[in-house]
Amino acid sequence: MPLKLTVIGTGYLGATHAAAMAELGFEVLGLDIDPAKIEMLSRGKVPMYEPGLEDLLARHVTGMDGSSGRLRFTTSWEEVADFGDVHFVCVNTPQKHGEYACDMSYVESAFSLLAPHLRRPALVVGKSTVPVGSATRLAALLRELAPAGPDAELAWNPEFLREGFAVNDTLHPDRIVVGVNSEHAEELLRQVYAGPLAEGTPFVVADYPTAELVKTAANAFLATKISFINAMAEVSEAAGGDVAKLAEAIGHDDRIGHKFLRAGIGFGGGCLPKDIRAFMARAGELGADQALTFLREVDSINMRRRTHMVEMAREAVGGGFLGRRIAVLGASFKPDSDDVRDSPALNVAGQIHLQGGQVTVYDPKGMENAKRLFPTLGYAPTAIDAVRGAEVVLHLTEWREFRELDPVALAEVAGHRRILDGRNALDPALWRKAGWTYRAMGRPSA
Ligand code: NAD
Repeated sequence: MPLKLTVIGTGYLGATHAAAMAELGFEVLGLDIDPAKIEMLSRGKVPMYEPGLEDLLARHVTGMDGSSGRLRFTTSWEEVADFGDVHFVCVNTPQKHGEYACDMSYVESAFSLLAPHLRRPALVVGKSTVPVGSATRLAALLRELAPAGPDAELAWNPEFLREGFAVNDTLHPDRIVVGVNSEHAEELLRQVYAGPLAEGTPFVVADYPTAELVKTAANAFLATKISFINAMAEVSEAAGGDVAKLAEAIGHDDRIGHKFLRAGIGFGGGCLPKDIRAFMARAGELGADQALTFLREVDSINMRRRTHMVEMAREAVGGGFLGRRIAVLGASFKPDSDDVRDSPALNVAGQIHLQGGQVTVYDPKGMENAKRLFPTLGYAPTAIDAVRGAEVVLHLTEWREFRELDPVALAEVAGHRRILDGRNALDPALWRKAGWTYRAMGRPSA
């Protein structure tokens, strides 16, 4: 009998995982505590923007024309427990209010709600990003609460997908990491991931703490790489150098590589910032806080970028924002996503607005979420509308649409032809040719 899978928590990670598992041939039941999300997903609608996900839902959601019918959604814990052989827990693990530490209450609640219904053998697989040590604690909770007792086992299988590429990253991951306590758990996960494994995807089997650490270590490394190049941008600016050239040159060394070396307004989103902070907090609890003090610097370099962008904008409009019109291109924390959690673009827009600037934001997909989070900012339906009359244009999220803008057409509607490229992603020559003053972070002005 093929395994039956459930996915608990159907946000960015869970909705993608559920649809991808159906694509791999499994029967899948998704659950969320948000009934509105379940209602949408059951109609094949994605509650967020993720390229390719709606197509995948259409291919598999029960009741949709021509679908495989392998994917359903529910809010019933009992139904989920009775249905699944393997349960993937994909709920959110945000930063605690007023603290660096991770808020584990959603994970704990998911385990507490599921476990009492587990009457038959089941493997519960945590995918959320959690502080090291959580899996050991949750395995004990499972044993205590599940009527199946030791037949309800736990594994940890951290997730590395990138928003904007989530479907492909789930179907063709660059590695699969599992923290297991038994050969049985490993065997079940090999069955689940038989598709990617057949493509040669590396399968790393580890204990619980190592599997948990792999995820936070990977995010800490990526954050460090971004803040490294941003620190180089600060020095380049002070010295009159060009960080883009510098990044290109050091990237030719394949021990360094070109990826994640673009200086700009830094990282944000629902993962990197909160994950490095939770990592520092957990290391502190473990008495290893000294090991991660460098992450404090990584975090502060990153946050300084946002302030620096505000300062560049202030200088561009002559020293004060009061009554000045500023166009902001970008709201989501990265392109190809509508996710605005801890978005550097919105942070910059918000700071300028609070200092009296009249900010107009445009983003291809992030507008609705941005309006909910920052209702007092101005919003325009297109990039050209945002730029109309603006005294400076801030490019803050590197959407392809912005790279393809026509600087000549924008020049005709802008109040002043000044653009600040917070992502080092536009072509300076093209903008300058159209009469714009182009400035980017860490690069010479002329
Ligand atoms: P999200 O907020 O988009 O989704 C979480 C979902 O869980 C929500 O729909 C919420 O309603 C639901 N939920 C909360 N408590 C629940 C409960 N007790 N029972 C059932 N459902 C519950 O979050 P996300 O971005 O999908 O992230 C989920 C986890 O995956 C986090 O730990 C995150 O760090 C990790 N992660 C995310 C990404 C990413 O790119 N988004 C990548 C890798 C790992």
